[in-house]
Amino acid sequence: MHVVHTPGEARAIARSLPGPLGFVPTMGALHRGHLALIERARAECTSVVASIFVNPLQFAPGEDYERYPRSPERDLALLAEAGAALVYAPTPQEMYPPGFATHVEVRGIGDAYEGAARPGHFAGVALVVLKLLHAIEPAVLYLGQKDAQQAVLLRRMVRDLDLPIETTICATVREPDGLALSSRNVYLNDEQRRAAPSLYRALSAMRAAIEAGASDVEAVKAVGSACIEPPLEIEYLDLVDPATFARRSTLERPALIVAVARAGRTRLLDNLPIPGADGGDQL
Ligand code: AMP
Repeated sequence: MHVVHTPGEARAIARSLPGPLGFVPTMGALHRGHLALIERARAECTSVVASIFVNPLQFAPGEDYERYPRSPERDLALLAEAGAALVYAPTPQEMYPPGFATHVEVRGIGDAYEGAARPGHFAGVALVVLKLLHAIEPAVLYLGQKDAQQAVLLRRMVRDLDLPIETTICATVREPDGLALSSRNVYLNDEQRRAAPSLYRALSAMRAAIEAGASDVEAVKAVGSACIEPPLEIEYLDLVDPATFARRSTLERPALIVAVARAGRTRLLDNLPIPGADGGDQL
């Protein structure tokens, strides 16, 4: 497995690998959710490239950039074992040298929810992923449905810029109790960890209510809210259009339930698709 730190090296080695190339961008602190993306890429592509970069631009001031979990040696061992051919792990100085001035904005999709809660977050995500795509030039970009708004926004960017890249969004990997895997779950104390699966129970109860013919969005949201266990507190819980992230005021399908619950300073982000009449559980 090659491990490189500059865009020039990444591009040179990526071009030398047998294609098609699958690419999995990450911030490291890898877990089974990340590894599921690597496995999917391995199954569908000839070579798999991963990146590890804790992107300072996607953390708002006062967020957890400094204390974000980092485990580079363990990550490299996991990626080697999972069969990645190349890992691109740039430094912030390489990624954003002095004088860097370019801004990437995808309008609309990122305005509400995570975009509203984390000013500048999606501009930082779009910029770094665009730079990574230019360095790696993959055929397929693999993203997790766990970060649904990010995945839909990046898919929009790839299409809008005519990049010759397919975007594949992979199902959320969960703990047996339903909690979506996240590098930030290590922040939870015992009490918060015990309550954390109530978020997924809320999403599941909302989907069941819709499938059972609930009358309106407010009734569905009330079903979800009632499932949340203290000390978790809902920051937002809504139904949205899965393609645009516009808030839904009717129970039209397909739809996506999006939610953040707070556990102290930690934000637990999750979502659940409500399939349309033609089925399908994916974005
Ligand atoms: P991150 O390291 O948090 O930036 O995540 C890197 C990629 O892994 C993103 O595309 C995430 O959506 C995806 N991912 C993170 N957690 C999960 C999960 N529990 N299941 C599936 N994909 C995930």
